[in-house]
Amino acid sequence: MCGIVAYIGKKEAYPILIKGLQRLEYRGYDSAGVALLSNGELNLYKKQGKVANLVDFASDKNTTGQIGIAHTRWATHGEPNDKNAHPHSSSNGNLAIIHNGIIENYDVLKEELISRGYVFKSDTDTEVLVHLIDDIQKKEGVWFGEALRIALLSVTGAYAIVVISKDKPDTIVAARKSSPLVIGIGKENDFYLASDATPIVEYTDQVVYMNDEEIAVIDLKDGMKLWNIQDEEKTPYVQHLELQLEALEKGGYEHFMLKEIHEQPRSINDCFRGRLNATEGWVELGGIKDYEQQLINANRVVMVACGTSWHACLVGEYLFEDLARINVEVEYASEFRYRNPIINEGDIVIAVSQSGETADTMAALELAKSKGAIILGICNVVGSSISRITHAGSYTHAGPEIGVASTKAFTAQVTVLTLMALSIAHKKGTMNETKFRTMLAELELIPDKVKKVLENNAHIERIAAEYKDATNALYLGRGSSFPVALEGALKLKEISYIHAEGYPAAEMKHGPIALIDEAMPVFVVATKGTSYEKVVSNIQEVKARKGKIIAIVTEGDEQVKLMADHIIEIPDTDEHLVPLLATVPFQLLSYHMAVMRGCNVDQPRNLAKSVTVE
Ligand code: GLU
Repeated sequence: MCGIVAYIGKKEAYPILIKGLQRLEYRGYDSAGVALLSNGELNLYKKQGKVANLVDFASDKNTTGQIGIAHTRWATHGEPNDKNAHPHSSSNGNLAIIHNGIIENYDVLKEELISRGYVFKSDTDTEVLVHLIDDIQKKEGVWFGEALRIALLSVTGAYAIVVISKDKPDTIVAARKSSPLVIGIGKENDFYLASDATPIVEYTDQVVYMNDEEIAVIDLKDGMKLWNIQDEEKTPYVQHLELQLEALEKGGYEHFMLKEIHEQPRSINDCFRGRLNATEGWVELGGIKDYEQQLINANRVVMVACGTSWHACLVGEYLFEDLARINVEVEYASEFRYRNPIINEGDIVIAVSQSGETADTMAALELAKSKGAIILGICNVVGSSISRITHAGSYTHAGPEIGVASTKAFTAQVTVLTLMALSIAHKKGTMNETKFRTMLAELELIPDKVKKVLENNAHIERIAAEYKDATNALYLGRGSSFPVALEGALKLKEISYIHAEGYPAAEMKHGPIALIDEAMPVFVVATKGTSYEKVVSNIQEVKARKGKIIAIVTEGDEQVKLMADHIIEIPDTDEHLVPLLATVPFQLLSYHMAVMRGCNVDQPRNLAKSVTVE
């Protein structure tokens, strides 16, 4: 997490940096800070809280300068306060640094630096870096870029770093390992550095994604040079950036989350583009074509992910097992990697991550790769770390997701997993032609059906008003609607701070039923399908204990209507595709309940998107 942005060129840096920080605020909003080089001075301003606080604070300060670095923080080490905000400076005030990641051996380094007289001004792990660079400069008589390179040889952990120094006011130095860093090559011999391409897109479409253990030295005279930490020169790989500026704005919606919920008909469609043709009867995921045979032959596939992406994997499990008859294990990336998991040569591990930067998922993939597994990725952010370390993969093409609570990325992940399962099932022969064609046709109708679900917004908002003051909520579903229940509960707790739990409907009687009383809203997916009658019985059980039922039902349902306190209808579809529709009312319910409770839905407390720390 943490967003970093930097500029070097002939323009005034401050407005570029502030705009960049605002774009990156989804990555963390504990504090924000900026350091600017101007006429031999290094001016550094930082403030707890959002970027707006920094802007207020710096409004009467000198913010001139054409070289600068800026940071928006999601604290890992040290409280979110002014002194722990980045940038951090060296004791003599010559150097300033911003950092995204964790320096794992900071305590050993800190102790040593303290013993040599360094005084620390913050509680962060990051501050050791700036003193270490300073120390090496003094000891070895080298310039700060070389000192950074030497310093990194003794650092373990994850970092995206940018450093500037008063000693070399025409130079900026950056380095990365495990945390992302993109360099935009401007049109006026200027350079933009950032955690992702969103602060860069309006200035240039030429970008270089830095690789692990690379150092970039950018000089106003000599331009950009890349090295690795072993001091070997590298050739930058310049890529064309495919990102539209409009995608980063709210487009008339009150919040990014609401915009992103409403974008789902389009994002699901974008996910199909070039991959699905129901009339001709084919589905093809070009990105994983080379590994299709291995998938067809696989006895077992492991899916690794965190958070919402983990829920998408659970839906994927139902699809892969039922349609393609492949045994799937869904793992929390963080648990998988520390469990000495059994991975054999040729096993297939699929990682799912919106940002493609999730640290635990990356580490799980690295572990699987080292054991000879084929690793595939499903990511949203093009060029992200996961998309680069995997053997192959498929992008979700949902477009930038800025609201911290994931919405359209989830449905896009489920869409890719559905396409994958269908493609394998068809080629493997576990699905007959008629069923295959019917499902493709149904899938193509999903974007329009999502549109119909969104038309229920006003009705859903009224339901939200009734339950906005709840302190607890239960979400129930069976089959592939069980992960929908988990996702519904996660969405509610993360943005409205109402405690919520998702359960397989039948599990309710093994414990959670004890919680049910007249104050407990129970959100149930009760659509037509194999377990419909069973869910109806579960609803009866809740009603018998005076719980409130809010049920998502198939259009025209009469039975649940008689029992539920509220129903939300969704269009009829193939049972396997219900998660793509049933998720949407839960997203809207959480959104409205959170807004009515006065919560910041786009930037919920303590959270950040793109979890680049373990
Ligand atoms: N570890 C640094 C801090 O706490 C950076 C945090 C991050 O990148 O999330 O300040």
